Amino acid sequence: MAKPVILTLDDDPMVLNAVERDLRKKYGQDYRLMKVNSGSAALGALKELQKRNETVALFLADQRMPQMTGVQFLEQARALFPEAKKVLLTAYADTEAAIYAINQVDLDHYLMKPWDPPEERLYPVLDELLEDWKAHARLPFEGIRIAGTLWSLPTHQVKDFLVRHQLPYQYLDVESDARARALVEAHNQGQLRIPTLFFPDGSTLVEPSLQQVAEKAGLPTEAQMGFYDLIIVGGGPAGLSAAVYASSEGVDCLLIEKHAPGGQAGSSPKIENYLGFPMGISGGDLTRRAMTQARRLGAEIITAQEVTAIRLLDRYKIVTLANGTEIACHALLLATGAAFNTLKMPGAAQLTGAGIYYGAAHTEAYYYKGQEVFVGGGANSAAQGALFLSRYASKVTMLIRGPEASAAQHLLNALKADPRIEIRVDTDLIEAHGIDKLEAVTVKNTATGVVETLPAAALFVFIGVKPQSDLVKDLVLRDLKGYVLTGPDLPRTVGRPFDRDPFMFETSVPGLFAAGDVRFGTIHRVVSATSEGGAAVAMIRHYLKTL
Ligand SMILES: Cc1cc2nc3c(=O)[nH]c(=O)nc-3n(C[C@H](O)[C@H](O)[C@H](O)COP(=O)(O)OP(=O)(O)OC[C@H]3O[C@@H](n4cnc5c(N)ncnc54)[C@H](O)[C@@H]3O)c2cc1C
Repeated sequence: MAKPVILTLDDDPMVLNAVERDLRKKYGQDYRLMKVNSGSAALGALKELQKRNETVALFLADQRMPQMTGVQFLEQARALFPEAKKVLLTAYADTEAAIYAINQVDLDHYLMKPWDPPEERLYPVLDELLEDWKAHARLPFEGIRIAGTLWSLPTHQVKDFLVRHQLPYQYLDVESDARARALVEAHNQGQLRIPTLFFPDGSTLVEPSLQQVAEKAGLPTEAQMGFYDLIIVGGGPAGLSAAVYASSEGVDCLLIEKHAPGGQAGSSPKIENYLGFPMGISGGDLTRRAMTQARRLGAEIITAQEVTAIRLLDRYKIVTLANGTEIACHALLLATGAAFNTLKMPGAAQLTGAGIYYGAAHTEAYYYKGQEVFVGGGANSAAQGALFLSRYASKVTMLIRGPEASAAQHLLNALKADPRIEIRVDTDLIEAHGIDKLEAVTVKNTATGVVETLPAAALFVFIGVKPQSDLVKDLVLRDLKGYVLTGPDLPRTVGRPFDRDPFMFETSVPGLFAAGDVRFGTIHRVVSATSEGGAAVAMIRHYLKTL
């Protein structure tokens, strides 16, 4: 397999050689290093790489070059290799250009010259970017291969599961690839059963459950013990943060996630407002880091396991998993978050996963390269989704019910600046059309009454969320929308089994806590979910001392 490329671009031969020398020393073994002295020559080289099906991991471009600036080069290069990481080499005076590049070309980093010593100022930055790149790269492939169609919901679910576990895979489309189709039929006695998964050891899984996929991929799905100090239900930011804090403070804890870790944040292409990541971070990368951190500190995490019931036995809490296993604990943290609201219009349910996706821009965007897609919704997550999709799709149309998008100002600016994005306000989705896959959507302009049917390759939906609290509906107090009441929000009179004030984040059941988007009073942000998860652990430790 050809090594992925790191391309360095600088018109000054001295600088070019110096960068190349430093890069070769550290990355020469795993990457092919290319050095080019002009933007046009670099673009020519990239087209050649594309023809040969080679991959670029990282661009390192100098900003100041006579014919084409670094930013102008990166603008064109990202159309050819959208997944490659982009670093701009700047002088102090180029800060403006760097800021422009962050917004316009999704710059991953800018490095001030000089970068000596590289061990301190160059390698740590590039190490991190290359790690992130590896986690998402679609390499010419030796790992798991998934054969399916773009229109099959189970195929989409398996792909999403692997993406969220940072497990690279190759997707084989049985509709467009006759060899893939033949491969699947040969394994299934002539039947086209999808998804069929092919593993490097030669084994296959046909139409598997996520649990089977997890087991085959070597992911833990069973708890090691029958009893824990703390069980955390849900592996979104709140649950993962709680797992990090609990394990770092010596609390025996088990985190149970029904799907793959990351929660809603895992489907965010770029979280811009999380402290410590000035260029933003994708939900997938944040999750990967949190998982590594939690496991390193000793937390036990199982995935593809749904908690189907929670009951009390004296002061103990007992959770039942979908496979019937029961596990007990002293304290339980409900971090089940929220789930996407779904479209109720005719055609939506049948075409979910077959062109209609909920918050899945990250997983599916690549497959809609060069096609026209729609985004339903106008808040932050919809705006982020549209911006991510526009890297691949030829056109992204945002359909917004109200008179304007409600996303944050920096996202609105980016939407307006993106020529591939069109915004339609006052627009209701009326119907989705298609037999096996989405082909068109009917929309109505509520201001003019005009109804139109528009051809659509895909519709990505971001129309709000609702709390996932049915699991405890007969156990704890909730508000009318289903958000779980905790601490000072609990009524002070009736039905309080406490012989003390409830702790912060404690529900109406002593020792049963809630944090993040499932909790009444949440602000639906990654930062509040992670803060609450961590703070809830402090309260849980107080609770454990009362036992
Ligand atoms: C597309 C998108 C983009 C976003 N972008 C941003 C952003 O840029 N900045 C920002 O601050 N916020 C953003 N948000 C909001 C943010 O992601 C959420 O506020 C945050 O993820 C809430 O975290 P949580 O842990 O409380 O819940 P969730 O993230 O919802 O996680 C809950 C987890 O619990 C699991 N679970 C549920 N029920 C069970 C069960 N019975 N058994 C086991 N597991 C279960 C779920 O599978 C899920 O993984 C975005 C949201 C979306 C959807």
